[in-house]
Amino acid sequence: ASGGGLVAYADSAGENASSEPSQEAPRKKKVVVLGTGWAGTSFLKDLDCSKYEVKVISPRNYFAFTPLLPSVTCGTVEARSIVEPIRKMLEKKRKDVTFYEAECFKIDASKKAVHCRSAVGTNFDGNGDFMVDYDYLVVALGATVNTFNTPGVMENCYFLKEVEDAQKIRRNVIDCFEKASLPNISEEEKRKILHFVIIGGGPTGVEFAAEMHDFLVEDLVKLYPAIQDFVKITIIQSGEHILNMFDQRIATFAEIKFQRDGIEVNTGFRVVKVSDDLITMKSKSLGEVSVPYGMAVWSAGVGTRPVIMDFMQQIGQTNRRVLATNEWLRVHECDSIYAIGDCASITQRKIMDDISTVFKMADKDNSGTLTLKEINDVIEDICIRYPQVELYMKSMHMLDIRDLIKDAIGDSHKESMVVDIEEFKKALSHVDSQVKSVPATAQVAAQQGHYLAECFNKMDQCKEHPEGPLRMTGTGSGRHNFRPFRYKHLGQFAPLGGEQAAAELPGDWVSMGHSTQWLWYSVYASKQVSWRTRMLVVSDWTRRFIFGRDSSR
Ligand code: FAD
Ligand code: MG
Ligand code: MG
Ligand code: MG
Ligand code: MG
Repeated sequence: ASGGGLVAYADSAGENASSEPSQEAPRKKKVVVLGTGWAGTSFLKDLDCSKYEVKVISPRNYFAFTPLLPSVTCGTVEARSIVEPIRKMLEKKRKDVTFYEAECFKIDASKKAVHCRSAVGTNFDGNGDFMVDYDYLVVALGATVNTFNTPGVMENCYFLKEVEDAQKIRRNVIDCFEKASLPNISEEEKRKILHFVIIGGGPTGVEFAAEMHDFLVEDLVKLYPAIQDFVKITIIQSGEHILNMFDQRIATFAEIKFQRDGIEVNTGFRVVKVSDDLITMKSKSLGEVSVPYGMAVWSAGVGTRPVIMDFMQQIGQTNRRVLATNEWLRVHECDSIYAIGDCASITQRKIMDDISTVFKMADKDNSGTLTLKEINDVIEDICIRYPQVELYMKSMHMLDIRDLIKDAIGDSHKESMVVDIEEFKKALSHVDSQVKSVPATAQVAAQQGHYLAECFNKMDQCKEHPEGPLRMTGTGSGRHNFRPFRYKHLGQFAPLGGEQAAAELPGDWVSMGHSTQWLWYSVYASKQVSWRTRMLVVSDWTRRFIFGRDSSR
């Protein structure tokens, strides 16, 4: 305990303490984490917080398990069951971590500080603003909704991004049913009030439509028998298919199931305007069509938070939607700022940009040519630094680098292959087409948080270059370096309602139907961040099985 006290003293003494550096424990570096979503909490969970002075800033003092948000919209799961207080999550690290419930409205990279505003109110000066400085900043602010400036969307549509959004949707769905049950409402009016429109056929929109449909057939028809025939659910999707990020088999399965369920799927339509009772959409073949609706949920696209937008302007990353980082998740041109999750994307370096360096590094004997052995010695490093090489070989069904070289030199029989720089270039000339960006998902955000925490935990071993350039890049000795972040796709689910789900698992494995729904239940139960929320979620599911959903507003 005395050691901790000393550190705390040295810290508060500030400048004075640093005049006698040899006497004091070195000041702990300040790490500021913005956001407590998937990326931020995953970083905090794995960070060795005793090594740093950690401050966490977020306007919500909880983590929300977003994949279950669609279930909250119809009361399948209660909102309280999918949130975990951030202070509870950090309980074991309480001594080392400070949490501020506030919104960051400006990142000042030149002063190494962030400007924040209290989320709950103001201080005694009538102003809740404050500044927090950092040595390292971890930006995990996520994304916001994107209306693409479509007129009327902000005013008239519901969104499904935050817990409050899901709760609002739930209340409004019930309101629509109560409203349509009032006396003196014409049939036409009932049809309008009970027309639920979902704009966006991605996973969130599809899952919400499925939830709505289940709520309807399992619960509401019994409670509102007089109006059940007036209910309609429509999905509007601008692309050719719904769920177009999934395997085609899944998209087709979903479309057929929805058709059977009576959910109308309008593909190839772009919504151009939403008024308080009409949605106007446009298609190439049919032109503009307007339909009356009772409730519209917009889940078409992710946008940039203003604070990220402002920061990108500052550092010259203009005309972008998300922050660009290198493969070690550090923001380009910013020494001590890292960005993870939905607010960032990785720029994978192209191997063709570095091809001469790579060639020189591999050519150990300076002969100006590479033997197969020379290439084999570095191919592992190359594949770590440029994952596209491996992806390319896989996509071309090549077993190893030998096949790639054979292709370039057109010589498949000679045992000792030797290539010069031109042939080497030719061999690798197409691999950069396989550069893939990682999707904006919870899975990616969590893996990035975990990865970055590992880097921070080992940072003192490689102070010079936290991202540790690999041997191949030729700029460092690379003893303690880190491998670049590599996303491991573990598969993804699409719950489709009626106790059915679809899943896409690694290795091109697709599974659909009732058993997949059980897989979904078990995976999502196991992914809960605490035993408390796990118990709540499982008991919500059980309650729903036995008693149905709660339809009070
Ligand atoms: P978020 O989790 O959004 O976290 C951002 C954090 O920043 C929040 O804590 C927020 O309060 C905080 N913040 C915001 N503004 C400020 C500010 N100005 N200052 C400080 N803090 C701020 N992904 C999957 O992989 N599988 C799924 O099944 C899935 N289902 C989804 C369902 C829905 C309805 C939604 C909306 C998303 C779903 N996702 C799913 C996507 C997933 O939720 C995101 O990819 C993930 O949340 C990204 O993590 P993040 O940490 O970058 O952002
Ligand atoms: Mg986050
Ligand atoms: Mg989240
Ligand atoms: Mg991202
Ligand atoms: Mg050589």
